[in-house]
Amino acid sequence: MPKILTVGEILVELIATTKGDGFREAQPLIGPYPSGAPAIFVDQVGRLGGKAAIIGRVGDDDFGHLNIARLAQDGVDISGIEVASGEVTGCAFVRYRKDGSRSFVFTMAQSATATLSITSAGAALMESCEHIHIMGTALSSPGMAEVALEAVSRVKARGGSLSFDPNIRPEILDSPGLRARLDGILARTDIFLPSGHELFLLTGARDEPAAIRDLLARGIREIVLKRGAEGASHFDANGRTDIAPHEVEEIDPTGAGDCFGGAFVALRLAGASPLEALRLANAAGARAVARTGPMEGSSTREELDQFLADYRTDG
Ligand code: ATP
Ligand code: MG
Repeated sequence: MPKILTVGEILVELIATTKGDGFREAQPLIGPYPSGAPAIFVDQVGRLGGKAAIIGRVGDDDFGHLNIARLAQDGVDISGIEVASGEVTGCAFVRYRKDGSRSFVFTMAQSATATLSITSAGAALMESCEHIHIMGTALSSPGMAEVALEAVSRVKARGGSLSFDPNIRPEILDSPGLRARLDGILARTDIFLPSGHELFLLTGARDEPAAIRDLLARGIREIVLKRGAEGASHFDANGRTDIAPHEVEEIDPTGAGDCFGGAFVALRLAGASPLEALRLANAAGARAVARTGPMEGSSTREELDQFLADYRTDG
């Protein structure tokens, strides 16, 4: 199976245990939980037994070491994680509102990850991995973006493939240079994994079929549209395949898309059909929302098979 590389933020998340609007008064919190979209993605690949590595940068603090220990335990190659002494690991504080929307306080831009640069360990991974996965969040800061774009160029130059999850809020789309970077990545993408409205971020199309036609015509081989509690759809030259969602109690949806993506990409690269990969990724997303903590819901193959078997019996 090809080794999968990703680049980007490794963070901790602290979650308010009360529901409401933001953090302008004291809140009970739980955490720290390992987090960061690329880290969750790669952890899910590792948990499924896939070969995976991440290029990232953390502070020499408990938050950084917590992440490194979890990724290593789940089988991820951590050689590309630089530990920066005297710097801090980024934090995401999240509080859910009663309607299920979230407010965040992020320290990513002031943390060790913001000044990511190419190290010899990172360069070695770019020369040894056969697939690269990019999260849009990693393109939002110049340092991470430069490393991510270099990794894409090197992996693709050696005949490797690229998957891309825009994972981006529309409000930050107009930050300097971001749209051009997203367009540049999309032009080289083999597997595109948008969620909801992200399908339209990088095409002029107004409706779903037109957006899909436009993206496939640009040379993207496969598109997987994540639809949250409505399941997911897969599109390629052979047409469209939908998968119905599993009915689960939504405890903490943060990270579901990253677990879904990690499972889909790992399984496709290991030779699963689109339908089989979609079925297991849909289960990975459902398991992820049912657990508190963004990386806590990543699944092993046994857990996915058991979940699907139980679901069939119950339902
Ligand atoms: P995030 O960026 O917050 O990690 P996302 O927006 O990229 O998430 P979603 O569409 O929310 O991704 O979730 C990915 C997949 O997980 C969905 O396509 C679906 O298969 C599964 N999923 C998500 N939410 C639910 C839910 N409430 N019930 C069942 N399955 C879900
Ligand atoms: Mg997402």
